[in-house]
Amino acid sequence: MKIAIIGAGAMGSLFGGRLALAGEEVWLLDVWEEHVRAINDKGLAIAAADRDIVARPKATTRLEDIGTAELVIVFVKSTATAKAAETALSLLGPDTAVLTLQNGYGNAEAIAAAVGAGRVIAGTTAQGATLLGPGRIMHGGSGETHIGELGGGLTARLEKIAACLTRAGIQTVADDNVASLIWGKLIVNVGINALTGITGLKNGELAEHDETRQVLALAVEEAVRVADAAGVKLPYGDPVEKVLAVAVATAQNRSSMLQDLSGGRMTEIEAINGALVREGERYGVATPVNRVLTLLIKALEKLPREN
Ligand code: NAD
Repeated sequence: MKIAIIGAGAMGSLFGGRLALAGEEVWLLDVWEEHVRAINDKGLAIAAADRDIVARPKATTRLEDIGTAELVIVFVKSTATAKAAETALSLLGPDTAVLTLQNGYGNAEAIAAAVGAGRVIAGTTAQGATLLGPGRIMHGGSGETHIGELGGGLTARLEKIAACLTRAGIQTVADDNVASLIWGKLIVNVGINALTGITGLKNGELAEHDETRQVLALAVEEAVRVADAAGVKLPYGDPVEKVLAVAVATAQNRSSMLQDLSGGRMTEIEAINGALVREGERYGVATPVNRVLTLLIKALEKLPREN
């Protein structure tokens, strides 16, 4: 399959590298020239716990190098989704599907606004990766990836893409209720990301203090009320316990929001707690805790800290 990946950072490189190793024709498109040059010169180095491998996807900064693709995967941070969606327009053939596995809420909708909802496949992934430098990433956690049609239902193209990813070592399940998956992951991120960003704590440390457990619970309970109002059934039972369990299971992680703030970068707050506030307004559900968390992160984005 010819696959174009827009945003070849940690996750775009992981997926692109694995798909290229499985024999797919992969094009990585990124604005970061040094990274693109390193991949084309020396290959993409993927460090993993058991072994290091080198993949050889094609990489470019020039959209016109690629032509049309059968599958486009958007893996920019959510702050760049609208721009990436415009880029995707130039890669579309008659049957091209556009897949997003980005975190947060609103990415699929922004892509659909540009390319049309019928082309969009969305989902979540428990894979994890970190950028080590130009042309080098580390494959962190592994776990299932779930994908679904934005409009629901199981289709032949969904099964084909799930099989293609699974062949590449990215265990993927085709699912017929993608909203449940996306909200399920959103609520985990709502509980963990902003709070670790503000406090500087690692994920597991949130569960160790009564005060942070309380704020986490308040943020998550608000999010659950918004999900209820939106008619979304979450994929797990007690949401506060679920989010605390994820925090403990990823105890040593510094969340991406904490890392972005430490590095002086914009965070994905508008797609996480910020999106929750906007959806709360839409459904008439008050979200004061998530509003405060969003405003604090936005203030910290303007005042980069040393961590
Ligand atoms: P990243 O910052 O490592 O990579 C993003 C890449 O996009 C960068 O290389 C950047 O140069 C590129 N980019 C930015 N604007 C672009 C544009 N207009 N066109 C082309 N390329 C552009 O981010 P990441 O960690 O790979 O995360 C990507 C998404 O996946 C995020 O939504 C994140 O929340 C989600 N996610 C990440 C992980 C993880 O472990 N890293 C796990 C699950 C989900």
